Amino acid sequence: MRKPIIAANWKMNKGPAETEDFLKGLISKIGKATDKCDVVIAPPFVSLPTATKLLASHDVSVAAQNVSQYDAGAYTGEINVMMLKELYVPYVIIGHSERRAIFGETDEVLNAKMHKVRETNLKAIFCIGETLEEREAGQLDEVLRRQLTEGLKGLSEKDVLETVLAYEPVWAIGTGVTASPEQAQEAHAKVRVILAESFGGEVADKVRIQYGGSVKPDNAAELLAQPDIDGALVGGASMEVGSFLQIIENGS
Ligand code: 13P
Repeated sequence: MRKPIIAANWKMNKGPAETEDFLKGLISKIGKATDKCDVVIAPPFVSLPTATKLLASHDVSVAAQNVSQYDAGAYTGEINVMMLKELYVPYVIIGHSERRAIFGETDEVLNAKMHKVRETNLKAIFCIGETLEEREAGQLDEVLRRQLTEGLKGLSEKDVLETVLAYEPVWAIGTGVTASPEQAQEAHAKVRVILAESFGGEVADKVRIQYGGSVKPDNAAELLAQPDIDGALVGGASMEVGSFLQIIENGS
């Protein structure tokens, strides 16, 4: 039985003050929701200390949105895995489509990041997903296969078990166009087939796969009811406590 995991990806929104406001509201209202569902908040780097302090005694985890593939040194603007460890941040999002498309992160770079993350026992939320062009050209299978085999290359079965995958079709991100539950389910099932080829059936069966892309309170239940969808990675609708809580409620 895979426990659902619902994560808020705030992207470049909410500095420390807004993070504090949101989390105080979340803590006061979340009740027993985390019994049924793991909850993760991914604020910008500068808000991580606020988040880890406020959530230290609560059953809500924190994720960074990115991390460097390098150890330390002359990499202006970068943050390394040890810095996240020092802040007690357990999760990090790797390979979000915005990192791939806007910041040019390749499968090779993302694979190096995955190795860094696992060497320090952080847990990745590893994102994959096709563009509309790729989907329309019938390349869904090929794209998922490339992203998974290149991105997870050289990792152990245990590493993959400690990883959460997020299937986020690029055409559904921030567009209001959600993949239908059937489209999402089909892609998630493909992901398990590909994982089974590289890491075995048991790993493929146990790994949690989130869906991301215009998840809202009113579509969360239907999406998360699909057999291979184990949670959600939520952008826009995670910015307000009320709608994020509603997604947790409806999805778990
Ligand atoms: P939206 O929920 O705003 O579509 O964003 C999804 C996403 O990119 C989460 O990582």
